[in-house]
Amino acid sequence: MKFATEFRNSDMAKGLIARIARTATRPARFMEFCGGHTVAIFRYGIRQVLPKTIEMVSGPGCPVCVTATPDIDKMLALAEMPGVIITTFGDMVKVPGSRSSLQKARAGGADVRMVYSTLDALKIAQDNPAKSVVFLGIGFETTAPTVAASVVQAEEQDIGNYYVLSQHKLCPPVIRAILNAGEVKLDGLICPGHVSAITGSRAWEFIAKEYHIPCVVSGFEPLDILQCVAMLTNQVEHGEAKVEIAYRRGVALMDRVFEACPANWRGIGTVPASGLKLRPEYSRHDAEAKFEIRVEPAIEPKGCLCGEVLRGVKTPLDCHLFRKVCTPESPVGPCMVSSEGSCSAYYLYGEES
Ligand code: SF4
Repeated sequence: MKFATEFRNSDMAKGLIARIARTATRPARFMEFCGGHTVAIFRYGIRQVLPKTIEMVSGPGCPVCVTATPDIDKMLALAEMPGVIITTFGDMVKVPGSRSSLQKARAGGADVRMVYSTLDALKIAQDNPAKSVVFLGIGFETTAPTVAASVVQAEEQDIGNYYVLSQHKLCPPVIRAILNAGEVKLDGLICPGHVSAITGSRAWEFIAKEYHIPCVVSGFEPLDILQCVAMLTNQVEHGEAKVEIAYRRGVALMDRVFEACPANWRGIGTVPASGLKLRPEYSRHDAEAKFEIRVEPAIEPKGCLCGEVLRGVKTPLDCHLFRKVCTPESPVGPCMVSSEGSCSAYYLYGEES
């Protein structure tokens, strides 16, 4: 079986699969919060080896996917300002806003540059002192510290033309929002290991305590995920709800530069204290403070179910555009653009409708 050969230790994988099959006697729906988990689950065929009683649903943990259309429109408005260079990580350039994308804006003459790190963006700012260089800060707790470091470096080296448009988001508050909405019933949550390395596993405790939903912090290898599903299944079968850690490999800077603020999540709406904005001490590097960014009312992609997919209430297979109109080459919504998006994972790893 292809799945087993791709494990570093297929015997351990088989053992875990057998253990899950032995333990799981009742239906259980587990949400993987993170897009990295979604991709690993599809890539390694994990759904196919789990008992039919276990359903896996994807959550809102793809930072590109959850960036709301009005915020993409803001990026486009900035890109069209004279003297502005936009710097960003790759996936973001292809995501459609209401009327265009950064890729199209670049084709139309805007200076949009893909970078591999914030250091590249800082260098561009140093090399172009007459221009304003805006880095698009997209990502969760894991990415924000690097971006915070770039702001501190810009401050220390007096790089006054370096700005961050912070669209960073925090994971635990949005999980609370999803659970409060009550649209999707969950029996367990796979919590992202890399986020927990920053926040500590205590950040998830409210889910077990207040919502009585088992949580297991998992890494991204197939064995990590199987171990996590085994632990979740065990909790479900024993009627327990606690936070466990299946991720043993394993910031102040983030707190120094950013503070929590409300954030607009695609498909979920504004969630209090789920975003990060630059603290007033660093407002000199805050693109929102520096530029008067005006955007028209947002237009959402017609027929796209990204919002529902991100809330775990629909899957890409429910979208009538999936595969027919919406493909990675011609994406309609961000969940097909991003390498961590559910629609792209379903498309690439072959879950057929
Ligand atoms: Fe949106 Fe395309 Fe996914 Fe449908 S398949 S939800 S249009 S990204």
